[in-house]
Amino acid sequence: MSNPYPDLPPHVKELFDTLTSLPTPEYCRHCGSKLLNVDTTFFSRGEKFWTVPLPVCPKCDLKEDTATFISADVC
Ligand SMILES: [Zn+2]
Repeated sequence: MSNPYPDLPPHVKELFDTLTSLPTPEYCRHCGSKLLNVDTTFFSRGEKFWTVPLPVCPKCDLKEDTATFISADVC
């Protein structure tokens, strides 16, 4: 199986490996609301390179800025 993102630094690859291998919870562990899966697209140098569905609690997570998930390629 070839590497789908050969240009990424190793720590970024690990991040996405972790994100995509996490079990997807169905309900929020904080409030018990049913979670939404939101496709989140990550960019590197302006190019779209990865989209992962992230579970988002409509009560808890949407109060915060979900853009904090997209900080990996800034460094
Ligand atoms: Zn919640």
